[in-house]
Amino acid sequence: MSASIIDGKAVAAGLRARVAQAGAKLKAAHGIVPGLAVVLVGDDPASAIYVKSKGAAAKEAGFHAFDIRQPANMSEKALLAQVAELNADAAVHGILVQMPLPKQIDSQRVISAIDPLKDVDGLHPMNAGRLLSGVYGAKHGLVACTPLGALMLIKHVQPDLAGMDAVVLGRSNLVGKPMAQLLLQENCTVTIAHSRTRDLPKLCARADILVAATGRAEMVKGDWIKPGAIVIDVGINRLSLPDGKNKLVGDVAFAEACLKARAITPVPGGVGPMTIACLMRNTLIAACLQAGLAAPEI
Ligand code: NDP
Repeated sequence: MSASIIDGKAVAAGLRARVAQAGAKLKAAHGIVPGLAVVLVGDDPASAIYVKSKGAAAKEAGFHAFDIRQPANMSEKALLAQVAELNADAAVHGILVQMPLPKQIDSQRVISAIDPLKDVDGLHPMNAGRLLSGVYGAKHGLVACTPLGALMLIKHVQPDLAGMDAVVLGRSNLVGKPMAQLLLQENCTVTIAHSRTRDLPKLCARADILVAATGRAEMVKGDWIKPGAIVIDVGINRLSLPDGKNKLVGDVAFAEACLKARAITPVPGGVGPMTIACLMRNTLIAACLQAGLAAPEI
């Protein structure tokens, strides 16, 4: 078997176009232009690239983009004051504080300070709780962007997931836990694995859907994968090559996995583009929620 490669760039482009269309309707009907504020503390090069592409995607969608740069020695108090200012700014519908933050700042405290209605990363405990309790489904809530995008890619391959065995490798608040909740809402039977899980190959071998989000380069081998599985590789790992260049790889040994899976996401070009597209989707939904409007089906 040779897997079909899930084209995250193409699916993301479709989503971004639908978001832009819905944004134009929102503007025409209610005079609202969604605004996204992205706060970068420090000058981590990878974070700077992410922030730049988020701002560019917001502009492309027709949104206002507020690019806020702060020095690496910013205090937690000052960042909390910045968040409070953005919470109070009616032109800002979505606030994203780029992670990781410098070590003098408690990330969880900052995430919790964001107005839950402006929490376009979907990481505020209120939004995580709404996802857990089923108040927010994948359709209407502020759900963490990466797992939401991963779910969309899975449903692009297989619209009905009911009864499927899903294994999620990783249990972070950012990816693993919300991913598992989304798959549960789709009526999958979900197992969450982590660094203390015993016999990962055996566990993965039962997965109709395997989502790898461990940050361990090419950890998932081809012979771990159930024939015909849908494999979603969230990992982004930078490998140094002997010639001094870098190569991006996922958490899955891609070439081997292609021989077993039915469909698989590449790295790059799989989940990554969906994360940014879902951020735009969340910003639009946040603008609607703040205006007391029903979130559009996108
Ligand atoms: P974290 O480091 O927060 O979490 C990693 C998880 O993987 C933990 O739950 C950890 O277990 C588990 N884990 C680590 N090693 C193993 C192992 N050997 N076997 C089983 N489980 C293991 O990472 P994130 O969730 O934030 O991100 C995961 C990956 O996804 C990273 O590569 C990151 O770069 C990428 N990413 C990609 C995004 C995108 O847009 N494509 C967005 C966000 C992340 P334990 O809890 O026991 O420590």
